[in-house]
Amino acid sequence: MEITKEHIKCWINKINEKITENKCYLTKLDQPIGDGDHGVNMERGFQATVNMLETTSYDTVSSMLKACALSVMSKVGGAAGPLYGTAFLRMSLHLNGAQLVTEKMFIEALEEAVVGMKKRGRTEVGEKTMIDVWAPVVEKLQKDGAFHASAIIQTAKEARNKTEHIAASKGRASFFKEKSVGYIDPGAASSYIIFEALAETLEEGACQRG
Ligand code: ADP
Ligand code: MG
Repeated sequence: MEITKEHIKCWINKINEKITENKCYLTKLDQPIGDGDHGVNMERGFQATVNMLETTSYDTVSSMLKACALSVMSKVGGAAGPLYGTAFLRMSLHLNGAQLVTEKMFIEALEEAVVGMKKRGRTEVGEKTMIDVWAPVVEKLQKDGAFHASAIIQTAKEARNKTEHIAASKGRASFFKEKSVGYIDPGAASSYIIFEALAETLEEGACQRG
């Protein structure tokens, strides 16, 4: 399967739709172990990115991802904006110069995204952050060598739910130490949404036709 600009646009649109639907849920997750702005941050940033994609044309998947990176970085804000922005930027850099993006290349780009996010956040798996979803999902993709929608969704969901049992050691939630146990991490929840949107995008023929 080839990953096209239409796929990327569809992915971002789906993220935006799902974030809008789940804005209150994300906000509620960020209240007990943060400052309650994650839903608002994500909605603002992804709506701006959708608007940008509607009004601009791009030559390649890479250049489109780069524009998304800059938009997400500056418009989402908070801790999550620069981290998600880094993910898109790393993907863009990995795919730079490619006219055709294969499934394998896209999986490698996602691996690069995780490397970049860990570096930017100085985060490893098990610290109750978005990395706790990104790392296992991308590991699963690497192992499968292909996008299987149900496997992506299941892995992401399990990973998101596991963050409930972890005490945070990064981000605002780390101020709560052991008291952060018992709550799902908001960034893990929005990352689940990002991968659910990706799985649905690559599953649906409609997006391929644009
Ligand atoms: P803020 O914490 O500035 O209010 P958000 O509420 O938008 O920003 O995002 C919070 C989410 O960001 C957390 O739930 C967590 O998943 C993620 N996060 C925070 N710090 C880090 C970090 N150092 N590495 C990875 N993810 C992080
Ligand atoms: Mg917050």
